[in-house]
Amino acid sequence: MVLDLGFIDETQNLLLESRFFPSKVGGKPAWLDLKFIPSSDQLICDACGMPNSFLCQLYCPLDEKESAFHRTIFIFLCLSKNCFQTNSNKNFIVLRSQLPLKNSYYPDTPPFLDKNWRPDISCSSHGVNLCFICGIRGIISCDDRCKQLFCSSYHKQIHNDNQNFKFDQKNKDRPTLLPEFGLSIESVDDQNNADAESESESDDENVENTKQNNLDYMNLLQFCAAHDLIDDNSFDEICKRISETAHDKVFLNFKSQIAMHPTQIIRYARNTEPLWLSKENIPICDSIPSCEYCGSSRQFEFQILPQILNYLNLDRDNNYIPGILDWGTLAIYTCRNNCDEGSAYKKEFLWKQDLIS
Ligand SMILES: [Zn+2]
Ligand SMILES: [Zn+2]
Ligand SMILES: [Zn+2]
Ligand SMILES: [Zn+2]
Repeated sequence: MVLDLGFIDETQNLLLESRFFPSKVGGKPAWLDLKFIPSSDQLICDACGMPNSFLCQLYCPLDEKESAFHRTIFIFLCLSKNCFQTNSNKNFIVLRSQLPLKNSYYPDTPPFLDKNWRPDISCSSHGVNLCFICGIRGIISCDDRCKQLFCSSYHKQIHNDNQNFKFDQKNKDRPTLLPEFGLSIESVDDQNNADAESESESDDENVENTKQNNLDYMNLLQFCAAHDLIDDNSFDEICKRISETAHDKVFLNFKSQIAMHPTQIIRYARNTEPLWLSKENIPICDSIPSCEYCGSSRQFEFQILPQILNYLNLDRDNNYIPGILDWGTLAIYTCRNNCDEGSAYKKEFLWKQDLIS
């Protein structure tokens, strides 16, 4: 069975605009549908009411559906510290957009991979202005001569503060854009779905195991970040040490899968099971709501691993990401039918699994 893994790829950083159908992390979204861009009221954090920040997007077209010849999933999140709650998806938003091969935005031949190719393929060519700060639909204009537009009064305020050199500590600490990177997708053999019949667990697991798992996991993540700096022998050693201390088979499996490709940040395996971190807080049959547009059930499509946090430059000690365990894994579920109903950017569902300390 084949699994697609996503890795940060800085060689692609010039080709992250809509016309190249990119997969990417951070920066502004590279919208697929160039006209019906979401406005801030579709991207408000459920927990605090502030606009969410763009986390990443994955270009994942479907062969079997004509209207999804092009297809991109977008993930947004609120970076405010208080909005991160254990096993809660309240500060995340997932949107799905798709287009047939013949559409009013893109030619029906593949893009020429050169940054100067067809810069006219853009939202502004379709009469849509984007927020100067965050890149979602701009609706409020600046009061001064610059004529920029903003999604919300929050982002207009950030702009005004910048203009007047009043850029205070408060805004500096709350990033509106995350660092931007290209994402490359590589296919590998999927060991997990080949032999991961969930084995029954003995009942003697306890709080100590969970604590140990959390420690192991933090070590693993730090190791993933440093992987390029150490040789293969120390890699084997760390894997072995982690295996020896782990008791939870689900967690053990998670770690061994991650260790095979330590810098992976995305695992794409539509219509299979996510690689869970723990046997706690796994969705049961009605935990995943049906598609709100067509009523079909949703299926798992891909997951985002916490290794992505290593690339986002967030100040984990003081400000918005209070600790590395702020998510264990983010599992994205999408409409089984990939329906065309509803708006151009359709809400999909995210399940957040954390390790509880
Ligand atoms: Zn929030
Ligand atoms: Zn904005
Ligand atoms: Zn201005
Ligand atoms: Zn649907």
